[in-house]
Amino acid sequence: AVPLVVAINTSMAARNGMLIRDRIAMESARNLDTVVFDKTGTLTEGEQGVVDVATADQWGEDDVLTLAAAAEGDSEHVIAQAIRDTAADQDLPVPGVRGFEALEGRGVRATIEREAVPAAASTADESADIGAPPSDAESDRDGHTVSVGGPNLLRHLEIDPDPALERFASEAGDRGEGVVYVLRDETVVGAIALADVIREESFEAIDALHGMGVDVAMLTGDDADVAHAVADELEIDTVFAEVLPEDKDEKILELQERGHLVGMVGDGVNDAPALTRSDVGIAIGSGTDVAVESADVVLVENDPRDVARLVRLSAKSYRKMA
Ligand code: ADP
Ligand code: MG
Repeated sequence: AVPLVVAINTSMAARNGMLIRDRIAMESARNLDTVVFDKTGTLTEGEQGVVDVATADQWGEDDVLTLAAAAEGDSEHVIAQAIRDTAADQDLPVPGVRGFEALEGRGVRATIEREAVPAAASTADESADIGAPPSDAESDRDGHTVSVGGPNLLRHLEIDPDPALERFASEAGDRGEGVVYVLRDETVVGAIALADVIREESFEAIDALHGMGVDVAMLTGDDADVAHAVADELEIDTVFAEVLPEDKDEKILELQERGHLVGMVGDGVNDAPALTRSDVGIAIGSGTDVAVESADVVLVENDPRDVARLVRLSAKSYRKMA
């Protein structure tokens, strides 16, 4: 039979917007001394906005956004969503792609099927373009591979952007914005700056944990500058940045090996191994199924402040039991 106290704390948890998937973990929550938060979608809105576009050489801002939106067509990443939204807002004609590839933790790549029909031609006679073979000029541009990704993608490809784009990126980084580069084949044609929106609740969530003497860390695949801008704003103690998805759980292990009892809060597929590794894995309810299934506790209300409530509830319930 389920001990009464456990039954009580499970239903109390449910009333507090938490779904307990592992009762042992729920019990250890009271002893957590470190909580690691994923950044994107957990501490931030999981939405970004395009705030600036820089271009190389003869390229226009519209070209850069159009190519990027095309390559990002099949990506579920927030960066992809922001770029597609901006292209849609600006009524840019986004061409189709084939061979879409997600470059895990780095970006995306796809091959342009054909360039978009120039706006003038499409309004002149739209029906004539449907199924029509591309003109010589269009077929000349057809078949180029477009990649979009962060600084880590360029490092991986061993490609340097031109100095103006590098300056754009470093200034955006100083403002706490993320930058992705847009490549056509091996040429960097532009860069797009995106801003993270920090969730209102995150400030209180971290304050509350600090108030209980719990250290707060942030874990992200993002660039160190971007990560630190968000961390500074939230007064987060420790930052693990530029961590590849397959390395996220290693960071949890490092903390555990230093003697910490570690909670991990995340929402993404990327976070699943870290959620499993941590002593208390906590998933944001609206997160991916994989994250939810890897977690010990699910925050049904998607509220990061519930992490502190969880610690408090654990202390309250299990003190009685002892
Ligand atoms: P996080 O840990 O913040 O959720 P990810 O591990 O998903 O971030 O991605 C790490 C970095 O890789 C991003 O900050 C970005 O620079 C790049 N990246 C990943 N996916 C994409 C994408 N679809 N488009 C552009 N860049 C991407
Ligand atoms: Mg995430």
